[in-house]
Amino acid sequence: RKGTVIITGASSGLGLATAKSLAETGKWHVIMACRDFLKAERAAKSSGMPRENYTVMHLDLASFDSVRQFVANFKQSGQPLDVLVCNAAVYLPTAKQPTFTADGFELSVGTNHLGHFLLARLLLDEMKQSDYPSKRLIIVGSITGNDNTLAGNVPPKANLGDMRGLAGGLNGLNSSAMIDGGDFDGAKAYKDSKVCNMLMMQEFHRRFHEETGITFASLYPGCIATTGLFREHIPLFRLLFPPFQKYITKGYVSEDESGKRLAQVVSDPSLTKSGVYWSWNNNSASFENQLSKEASDESKARKVWEISEKLVGLA
Ligand code: NDP
Repeated sequence: RKGTVIITGASSGLGLATAKSLAETGKWHVIMACRDFLKAERAAKSSGMPRENYTVMHLDLASFDSVRQFVANFKQSGQPLDVLVCNAAVYLPTAKQPTFTADGFELSVGTNHLGHFLLARLLLDEMKQSDYPSKRLIIVGSITGNDNTLAGNVPPKANLGDMRGLAGGLNGLNSSAMIDGGDFDGAKAYKDSKVCNMLMMQEFHRRFHEETGITFASLYPGCIATTGLFREHIPLFRLLFPPFQKYITKGYVSEDESGKRLAQVVSDPSLTKSGVYWSWNNNSASFENQLSKEASDESKARKVWEISEKLVGLA
């Protein structure tokens, strides 16, 4: 049978390119889990994905109700779940004030981390029940949350601190909107959320890999300087960023190529190792990369997991 893969945020950028790459093989049915149904349908159609190989389902990660409804709808569809790709993200580098999810959490961490954490936890049972030979849970990471790299050292740097803001509810009222309890900074909030993504992948691995056989992995797909992720950035940045990445840092990767990389992590029989963070070198060969000190800190991972369980209503 075909594999079934859910990809969040498949209406543009990396998610769309990955959906296309997998759907074209004919070996996968892609569930495009998107907040804008029409946009996703249009994107799928214009990318030329074979109609029989994808379904769009509504999911707004900035609302726990929507996450729960999505999981209920998916279960009702009776399909097995073989691979889940947590890809969607928001990035608000120029925001002066925090904005919030339906449940009152700062939007970047609320969407990128908390929404995905609830989704992955609720879908784990579905994956356990699947008889697919290589089940995987992939969480898209980033180099920007990784301060052992050049790009990860561009200020403001990710830093979860003692997590007093997260523990306080990240609501900007009786707690800070930032995980470390500091003043709001949209670029840092995104980087912090990506550190949470990478920590959660490893914590899933420690808690569930042996028992379930599921492969848990993260990746840095390269700098895809042309995606919608930078839509909130100032126009000059959007103009100069792609050539800067192409010619100066040489980290640039096209949407197509990044989609092939993520599709590889989803389906390549040789990439079954669990608990790893994949990257690619200039010849586009994958390798197991090192995470920064903070992004591989076991006690921080446990703490983020435990606080997040409370925030999403699982504990
Ligand atoms: P895009 O902005 O093109 O894609 C982001 C996707 O997330 C869109 O489909 C968007 O939906 C969706 N999304 C945002 N908010 C929600 C929500 N509340 N509920 C459901 N879906 C939502 O960016 P990219 O393709 O670049 O980003 C994809 C991933 O790649 C992210 O995890 C990002 O951190 C990561 N990444 C990107 C890099 C880059 O250089 N671009 C580098 C490293 C990592 P909509 O279409 O409706 O807006």
